[in-house]
Amino acid sequence: MRRPLFAGNWKMYTNTREAGELAAGVRKQLGELDAVDVVLCPPFVYLADVVDVVRGSRIGVGAQNTHWEAQGAFTGEIAPAMLKDIGCTYVIIGHSERRHGLGETDQLVHKKTAAALAAGLTPIVCVGELLEEREQGKTNSVLERQVHGFLKGLPSESLGRIVIAYEPVWAIGTGKTATPAQAQEAHIFIRKEAAKATTPAVAAGMRILYGGSVKPDNAKELKSQPDVDGALVGGASLKADSFAAIARAAIK
Ligand code: PEP
Repeated sequence: MRRPLFAGNWKMYTNTREAGELAAGVRKQLGELDAVDVVLCPPFVYLADVVDVVRGSRIGVGAQNTHWEAQGAFTGEIAPAMLKDIGCTYVIIGHSERRHGLGETDQLVHKKTAAALAAGLTPIVCVGELLEEREQGKTNSVLERQVHGFLKGLPSESLGRIVIAYEPVWAIGTGKTATPAQAQEAHIFIRKEAAKATTPAVAAGMRILYGGSVKPDNAKELKSQPDVDGALVGGASLKADSFAAIARAAIK
């Protein structure tokens, strides 16, 4: 049985006041909910504040990125152990805005995932095709490359902790959502590839989230797909009411 997970990716939004208020609003609505896991991913500079606001509730906190080294002369970077140290338990890795906007490669995503696992964090690793790749019938080959690219060679004892987020790039921040059938088809494919890269038992237990313009009015139908285990939510996570409505939509 895979526990549903809803993660809010605040991207480069909010300020000190807004981050505190948003976290408090989510805590008020979802802080005691035990049917699903809820994670807030604010910008780095507000992580510690959000950790304070949700302390003692069931809500987790995650970063939106990490470096792969434990420490060193890497100006401007943050190590996984630092995230753990301030109370983060999750980290988003390989978001398409980093893969396509900042040139993150499959190899980098692999290194970051390995480092996050070694530090005891739960990585939420993003995969997904561009619109032109879907139109050219390349969705599966892109997903295959990305899934094997980050999973291959990871230590077997920590594989069970990994969360994958299927985020078709054409659906992120565009208001265009994959249909439930498109999401389910991609999630089955990802699970099949994850089974080849790990074991069938590991892949069967792996949570695969859908991301891409998830809103309160489409969350229930997406979550009702058997291989959709929750959502990575961008825009709609910036309002406590809409994020809470999405998470609640998962509860039958
Ligand atoms: C995201 O940031 O991962 C995302 C899916 O954004 P949005 O929900 O705004 O499409």
